[in-house]
Amino acid sequence: MGVTRKILNWYARIGPSHGKKLPPYEHVVQIGDPMLRKASEPVAVDKIKSEEIQKLIKKLKYVLDKYGSVGMSAPQIGVNKRIFVMRQTALQIASIPKESVKTRGITVVPFSVFINPTLKVIDYSKVTLSEGCESVQGYTAEVARYKEVEITALNAEGDSTSTKYKDWAARIAQHEMEHLDGKLYTDIMDRKSLQCIFWEEVNLAKGKLAIPFYPD
Ligand SMILES: [Zn+2]
Repeated sequence: MGVTRKILNWYARIGPSHGKKLPPYEHVVQIGDPMLRKASEPVAVDKIKSEEIQKLIKKLKYVLDKYGSVGMSAPQIGVNKRIFVMRQTALQIASIPKESVKTRGITVVPFSVFINPTLKVIDYSKVTLSEGCESVQGYTAEVARYKEVEITALNAEGDSTSTKYKDWAARIAQHEMEHLDGKLYTDIMDRKSLQCIFWEEVNLAKGKLAIPFYPD
């Protein structure tokens, strides 16, 4: 309640003009935003090379980089178009404990753009691991995902591509695909596994800690 009041006071001070920047945003929208619950619209193939779509792809890459994420979908930056990007760099992997890299099957994924993607399950066995989402900032939960999938889509040049992804990369692809249908991992998570990633720090800081909604 107290925190809510503080936020409302902040909003009253800043005023509604603060929210006038139009999408695509340079921040990631948060759970509760109706945009995250809409089924996104396919991109007209003859529009892929348009300034609008190319700028949207650039913005997705910008936000992906800024947040240090591995996947980002257009609805997460406020645009209901069926586009997502993903990548996993060697530098990102170097910052993850080796044991996690192994158990999660995390591998390098080059930066890729997926327009109007479709997903085919290659290996129906499911793997349950904890995952997070930039639109559910500060939390993680365990989610069961297929072990291997194939994504068929158009790339930023409008060419058709088909790529198979296993393990962690398959998880990212399934997670981003669901964003395009207005779904979030919280819909299918093991509810008892939901945790605030800062729960220990909250105790260390005697509660005086805020979830950052924007990277430093
Ligand atoms: Zn997400």
